[in-house]
Amino acid sequence: MDFKKVKNDFPLLANNPALSYLDSGATSQKPEVVIDAISNYYKEANANVHRAIYPLGERATMLYEQTREKVAKFINAASSCEVVFTKGTTESINFVAHSWALDHLKAGDEIVLTKTEHHANLLPWQLVAKQTGAKLVFVPLNTQTFECDDAQSVITSKTRLITVTQSSNVIGDIWQDGQLEAVIKKAHAVGARVLVDAAQTPAHARLDVQKLGADFVVFSPHKMFGPTGVGVLYIKQALHDDVRPYQVGGSMIFSATFNDATWAQAPQKFEAGTPPIASVIGLGAAIDYIEKNIDFDELKKHEAGLCAQLIDGLEKLDGVHIAGNKNKLRSSGHLVSFWVEDAHAHDVATFLGMHGVALRAGHHCAQPLANLLGVQSLLRASLCAYNNSEDIKKLLIGLEQTLTSIRSLSNKKSHEQSVSRRTDRTFQVSQQQ
Ligand code: PMP
Repeated sequence: MDFKKVKNDFPLLANNPALSYLDSGATSQKPEVVIDAISNYYKEANANVHRAIYPLGERATMLYEQTREKVAKFINAASSCEVVFTKGTTESINFVAHSWALDHLKAGDEIVLTKTEHHANLLPWQLVAKQTGAKLVFVPLNTQTFECDDAQSVITSKTRLITVTQSSNVIGDIWQDGQLEAVIKKAHAVGARVLVDAAQTPAHARLDVQKLGADFVVFSPHKMFGPTGVGVLYIKQALHDDVRPYQVGGSMIFSATFNDATWAQAPQKFEAGTPPIASVIGLGAAIDYIEKNIDFDELKKHEAGLCAQLIDGLEKLDGVHIAGNKNKLRSSGHLVSFWVEDAHAHDVATFLGMHGVALRAGHHCAQPLANLLGVQSLLRASLCAYNNSEDIKKLLIGLEQTLTSIRSLSNKKSHEQSVSRRTDRTFQVSQQQ
């Protein structure tokens, strides 16, 4: 793969050569082919799906269903009926919470999560726990290695659901080799179901749902070169009868009377109303783009090399702390989060933004994790195939300048404050005399 050329495929990056976009963990940029696929659908194939019999409608349905086939192949699902289109990872998780968990969990049952979950995979389970009386149980996080060393120990006969991230959006990979697969096996052995939040995976590594073995797998195409507005929810076929529709309405019934209705087979049963057709078709183009252009083994080396370059640079700066397992990030990471002792992450990100470096600041929708790390807010550089060593250099130079400016401003301010305190005291003393 020629990583130098990848930026040219992305109009926003090609048209803004001064921009170093390092926020792909929030959303990736979109290649021209994805933008074209969406625009061509509106220009040439716009009609509703699953209802029209005229050729235009059949074409739209074909493009929509072709994408389902592409997604199934992309994630190695056993059948395309296991692929459900939603609005995003957040909706996919709320879907499972609502349409499966509320029916299958009761007081005393346990839901196992990691301490690194994004709020999207934490808050829905807090609601389920409140409504059913089930208890949330957290896998301990080793804050030295940033790994879930002892995940198996919290899985017991009370565990009904394990719902965990495949890779943290703050600290990266939290699992040892094969550990997540082993956790899933143990969960099944005690009769529990498993949801894997794979939001941070498909732009960086091959996602194989059969190898993983989870019952539900969720991700957001907008983080893997696709458009916003569409999400993927993989539901293992064996569970289709156990999951109720999340919404009811058009295009999802087998039959309806004035007082009752029965559902069509999955996936139709799970996709009520007009779906995000253009976004789904854009997702199809994003998968084509990945299959044609991305070699995941080379990408891993490329992104990890950039993480190593960034970590080396950050380690040379005073008062900068990295959140995550540095060795792991250097060998297989695609994001690096850090905080600066005497500068607020928002100030740093604002300064860097003015220098053309876009990176995220905040608790990254994982506030309990930030609290566990003892910080309110972190900076995060998250990479994608289009980033290169120049982006990292620019970030490091910008950061050094930013810290010098912020520190000299705050030194100046504290000097002025101490002068004004001294002046006040002199004034008070002279008043008293
Ligand atoms: N889980 C993880 C690990 C994420 O990184 C994100 C997005 N930052 C989400 C869930 C939520 O994804 P979305 O906002 O696309 O629904």
